Amino acid sequence: MTETSPAFMMGLTLPDVDSWSERVVVALGQNPGMFTGPGTNTYLVGTGPERILLDTGDGRPEYLPILARALEHAGDVRIQEIVLTHGHPDHIGGAASIIETHGALRVSKRPWAEMDERHAVTVQPIDDGDVVRSEGATLRAVHTPGHAEDHLCFVLEEEGALFSGDNVLGVGTTVIPPFGGDLGVYMRSLDRLLAEEPTVIYPAHGPKIEDGRAKLREYIDHRHEREQQVLEALDAGLASIEAIVKRVYAAYPEALHSAAAWTVTNQLLKLEREGRVGRDGEEPLAARWRRA
Ligand SMILES: [Zn+2]
Repeated sequence: MTETSPAFMMGLTLPDVDSWSERVVVALGQNPGMFTGPGTNTYLVGTGPERILLDTGDGRPEYLPILARALEHAGDVRIQEIVLTHGHPDHIGGAASIIETHGALRVSKRPWAEMDERHAVTVQPIDDGDVVRSEGATLRAVHTPGHAEDHLCFVLEEEGALFSGDNVLGVGTTVIPPFGGDLGVYMRSLDRLLAEEPTVIYPAHGPKIEDGRAKLREYIDHRHEREQQVLEALDAGLASIEAIVKRVYAAYPEALHSAAAWTVTNQLLKLEREGRVGRDGEEPLAARWRRA
């Protein structure tokens, strides 16, 4: 807990190693950036001499000494096995180098061939409802696609807490990528997580979220509000994504508008799948949009 990672966005700094509960130690992946905030949180979970490692960072060598310090901080423990929330590179990317350093470890995730095969790890398939146990910790997988189709969140039964992966973040908002993402599916995943009524949320990026239910409601309300604003912009006769962004994000700096264009595109694609809007033009970003 002596060093901190570089400040990123809103001056946020997090310790490299920290205890977030009696059974949760966080080790910060040293990969700050636009999509990762202060970096990817990796978690040692359990209370015994061997702990589950949840997520692995992106594979940069600076992470390995941080992980070593986290194992020491947790009481000179070892890694029992690796469990992954999903196959994006900042979560799976560190698995190979950790195995190289710490020896053969099982790596469990929900398979997603196109993503998994880019990394030199053999994946043990787990899926919705599966449970991974360590002394003092029971992790139950909840399939929550939308940000990524293989995405699993994990309920930590002993705390009623939730490891939310990239579905709920401690900083910023979840990106719905063009490949493997789907906003409508993501919204259903948020509803599913709210039904779990989590106490605390341990996100994959950013600080611990003390009131998980309130944060989930905030996420759900925010997306609904945006959807309403996009529909209102269409009703006002705006048809291009650029014009819709200018209206909906009028209060935000122009520098954020290109990211906002993706958010609006996702909203429109969701509404299109629901049959509520239509478009002229193949390419979503360049199309003319209208109410169906
Ligand atoms: Zn991700």
